Amino acid sequence: MNIADKKCTNCGENSFVQATDYINLRPLDKKMSIGAERVYTVCLNCGEVVSIQVKDPEKLLK
Ligand SMILES: [Zn+2]
Repeated sequence: MNIADKKCTNCGENSFVQATDYINLRPLDKKMSIGAERVYTVCLNCGEVVSIQVKDPEKLLK
């Protein structure tokens, strides 16, 4: 993912860090699924989470 041309919707800055909490997102109907990792894009200036992206969305189908 290219975060270079993103802009914070809260403060307008464009410095971000990407992070994960290692809590996987699981499909509603398959709670035993391993699920997929979430990646947060966080504004370094104000802490706004500008994007939450699922790393391997196809894992939600398994
Ligand atoms: Zn910001």
